[in-house]
Amino acid sequence: MNDNNPLNVDVCIVGAGPGGALLSYLLNRQGISTALIERQPHLHKSFRGELLNQDGEAVLSKHGLFSGVVQLGALPLEQIQYWENGQIIHTFHPAEGESHVGIHIPQNHLLDFIVSESQNLPHSHEHVLFNTVMTGLLRDKTGKTIGIHIRQNGVPSSIQASVIVGADGRYSAVRKHSGLTPDVRKHGYDLLWARIPAPVGWEPAVRMASMDGQQLALFSQYGGYVQIGWNIPQGSFSSLREQPFAPFVEKLVAAFPCLSDSVAAHIQTWSDFVLLSVESCYSESWTQDNVVLLGDAAHTMTPTGAFGLNAALEDADALSEILTRMASDHFKFTEPLQQLQILRGDKVKQQLARQVEMESSFQQRYESLR
Ligand SMILES: Cc1cc2nc3c(=O)[nH]c(=O)nc-3n(C[C@H](O)[C@H](O)[C@H](O)COP(=O)(O)OP(=O)(O)OC[C@H]3O[C@@H](n4cnc5c(N)ncnc54)[C@H](O)[C@@H]3O)c2cc1C
Repeated sequence: MNDNNPLNVDVCIVGAGPGGALLSYLLNRQGISTALIERQPHLHKSFRGELLNQDGEAVLSKHGLFSGVVQLGALPLEQIQYWENGQIIHTFHPAEGESHVGIHIPQNHLLDFIVSESQNLPHSHEHVLFNTVMTGLLRDKTGKTIGIHIRQNGVPSSIQASVIVGADGRYSAVRKHSGLTPDVRKHGYDLLWARIPAPVGWEPAVRMASMDGQQLALFSQYGGYVQIGWNIPQGSFSSLREQPFAPFVEKLVAAFPCLSDSVAAHIQTWSDFVLLSVESCYSESWTQDNVVLLGDAAHTMTPTGAFGLNAALEDADALSEILTRMASDHFKFTEPLQQLQILRGDKVKQQLARQVEMESSFQQRYESLR
């Protein structure tokens, strides 16, 4: 592939996160050729959303992927516990008819499985390009979008496609180059994120505590880990990290005393936390002619409630059906792409509103359990 002989596919998907990887697989299965491009050198990026809920599980099951992903390693979480001063003050069990409150699936297991299933299809029409960054839209003389510009291993090139999908996450380059504007919302908090070994014998659960009026959430993870998500006031990290570290981390140990050994061994300085600046967005339009956005590119969610990964999988499922119908007309008409937002927009907006409601009522909910 070079600029004189560019790759030419039906659908070019920018971003091999859960949304892009699943979409590429589903299209490939229908004989629709795809280019799945990813700026990272591999699929193993850390600190991604990894809690699968019923919606995400239903999509994977519908396409026969769920059991294969689980076989690579997954951990169903059995309860949500609320803690205070080192004690459980309330436990929520799975709803009637459900066996868990979410499943931890390492995202590399999910992505590896989907991408390898796709590559192993008997007549694969999928090109997976790592170390490849989308740098702009490729247009013909009339201004029509006919593909994308890329830089692969630093070398400029292009890919031609009938449809371009922006599955490239919260800071989507496809969205930016298409002139689609997101309505960005701050939520008043940022997140400190760390992963440490779980104490031996800890049951798989989500554990919540209130720390200076902010939410502290622990998620058991497959492989014997616990993920810590500690909300701090928005923009406060630079002043916080000028304070002594020990009193801060002691609060974590006071809330969950059984973490003391693991915290002492693995969280020793401010640098042992990753700071995530929290914001959500909703793109007013998800399409521009033959360009369509999905997942975080169309609607970034905050980590609250663990909706984002699942919403990206649902988008990919819906978009694959739309694109499969469009393939029968050789992608002549682009209007059907607008169906994605029509089908998915209301549910996404409800989830975004639910996140705000969960965030603002956390302290009240917590106090009502005392
Ligand atoms: C701290 C945190 C915790 C979360 N926890 C959960 C959770 O437990 N459950 C849940 O459901 N959701 C969670 N989420 C949300 C979830 O991670 C996202 O909603 C989900 O990953 C979105 O998937 P996606 O496929 O749309 O995009 P992404 O997963 O963001 O994938 C986009 C991909 O595009 C690539 N890319 C970006 N730009 C370019 C470019 N120009 N060229 C080529 N490639 C590019 C990126 O490298 C990336 O691989 C969490 C989010 C955060 C920040």
